[in-house]
Amino acid sequence: MHPDLPKLLDVQKKDRELAALTGRAQAIAEERATLDVALERGRIELAAAERAEIEATRRRDEAEQTLETQRTQHERRQQRLEQERNPRVAAQLLADVELGRNILAQEESDWIRMADDVTARAVALTAATERLAAAEAEQAPARTALADRDTELAVQLDAARAAREAAAARLDRLLRIRYDRLRNSRKTEILVPVQNATCTACYTVIPRSRIGKLQAEGILIDGCEMCGAIIYVAEAVA
Ligand SMILES: [Zn+2]
Repeated sequence: MHPDLPKLLDVQKKDRELAALTGRAQAIAEERATLDVALERGRIELAAAERAEIEATRRRDEAEQTLETQRTQHERRQQRLEQERNPRVAAQLLADVELGRNILAQEESDWIRMADDVTARAVALTAATERLAAAEAEQAPARTALADRDTELAVQLDAARAAREAAAARLDRLLRIRYDRLRNSRKTEILVPVQNATCTACYTVIPRSRIGKLQAEGILIDGCEMCGAIIYVAEAVA
């Protein structure tokens, strides 16, 4: 048996373990992203409720100022009417006062509507704040559990990386370079067992001329001619 075969298989096994741990880290990240999405919706709602409340307050305050100005003007017109002796001018002033009273009544009812709107917006804002707080509280246990899994996984990942590095360090330098290059370019495994003289990664038949070497060493390091996988005989290591 080729001395590098067990070493290579060991590196591949450790890469497989590392990939499984990385997969778990991705799963955790996805679970956290799902939680984030749920909260994000609440935050957007809250921001919209805040803007709506500020806007409603601004409209009501503006209306209040206009109303104050018009009340003052109305009172002045009434005073002038009381003091006016000329009947023709007084008649005109009376018409102005009555028109002013109608406008004022309309403005007052507008102001009441706006004040009610402010109250409604404030209620909606409180509700949005409470909903977000409730959603955050509801997520707290799940987030704590995720953080615990993260911590645990980080330790396992460190150990797995160190173990992988140690296993790879035992490889011949050129073999390691070849293995790492294959690892970066291949989606599937790098070492694949031969079966019925066929590469089990791409199902290409190994040429008769190379079978002898494969049988003798248990491995074809220069790999499958079609897909580049390093081919080995499973029985050689069994
Ligand atoms: Zn192949």
